[in-house]
Amino acid sequence: MAIRPWTLIWSVAFCVFLIFPRKGMVFMIIVMESRATKVQIEQVSKRLEEKGFQVHLSTGVERTIIGAIGERTQATQDLVETLPGVEKVVPIAQPFKMASRQFKQEPTIIKVGGQFFGGSQLQIIAGPCAVEGRSKYIEAALAVKEAGATMLRGGAYKPRTSPYSFQGMEREGLEILAEARQITGLPVVTEIMDPRQIDDVASYADILQVGARNMQNFFLLRELGRVKRPILLKRGPSATIEEWIMAAEYIISSGNPEVIMCERGIRSFEHYTRNTLDLSAVPVIKNLTHLPVIVDPSHGTGKWKLVEPMSMAAIGAGADGVMIEVHQNPSEALSDGPQSLTPENFARLVIKIKKLYKMLKTDEGQ
Ligand code: PEP
Ligand code: MN
Repeated sequence: MAIRPWTLIWSVAFCVFLIFPRKGMVFMIIVMESRATKVQIEQVSKRLEEKGFQVHLSTGVERTIIGAIGERTQATQDLVETLPGVEKVVPIAQPFKMASRQFKQEPTIIKVGGQFFGGSQLQIIAGPCAVEGRSKYIEAALAVKEAGATMLRGGAYKPRTSPYSFQGMEREGLEILAEARQITGLPVVTEIMDPRQIDDVASYADILQVGARNMQNFFLLRELGRVKRPILLKRGPSATIEEWIMAAEYIISSGNPEVIMCERGIRSFEHYTRNTLDLSAVPVIKNLTHLPVIVDPSHGTGKWKLVEPMSMAAIGAGADGVMIEVHQNPSEALSDGPQSLTPENFARLVIKIKKLYKMLKTDEGQ
């Protein structure tokens, strides 16, 4: 059979495309020898910067890893490989770089107040979906603290499907959260919806939550890169794990390495539950990234009766914590009542998950 000229031209062009390296941005990690000196690390960074690379250092317990983003050329890679103190140069093929385990092998531990995410502490964030009023919130905060919560939650700005639903108490809500922190001594997590709220929310809250609906608000993510507060990044309702990690990459590459991932369920064909809680995401995130990961079984299921079993499952899957909605009177909550636990049910849940967490950690240590 005769080959048509156009088929031949396209085949040759395709082979050339495959054989010759394409120009473009590349992310390399330069693994330094464990005995590399500070001066050698500085020299490598300087040479890369001279070649137009953006350089990020990851200083581990054993060795330093240099991440470099810039124009791909074999010559640069060869040059770097010959510099003193360099063990190897590895181009990263995955789309996420600074969030990846390749870039940083040790798990990231995020300190909030006197507590840690990602270490050997279980974080239990609890409180109502929204701040609904001063005395109601303070009462709820004291109740969840008494039951064993380690942090408080509560939305001052609420992302609601309907513009006619309760939208949150806004700044007044932030003031109430700050007061509750002062009274209970517990750190406060609250949602940020718009870059214009950053200064305000960051001046009141300890952790800024990016809600599921904003997971791909890239402008907001970039701006949060400049904030000196940890970011709790919820998974978007229809986001793949890779898209979710890429959202974390936006924040980290913009300057804020303190990102806590939060699985809160994704949309599926299943209607019995509000969302489908994807607990497999927990070990996947732990494998692919160095970031702490927590689970929100309240939004993940939408049903209070499922919150306890799914909290247990989350701890079993290796989560660093849970985020749970609690309301004194769920049937009268202004938002998310059907998925909110009473303080009594929450207290029972805390006893169970603490016991399970302790058992699993003891087993790990043996
Ligand atoms: C919330 O935590 O109250 C909330 C709105 O969560 P999500 O963004 O996961 O829906
Ligand atoms: Mn809610």
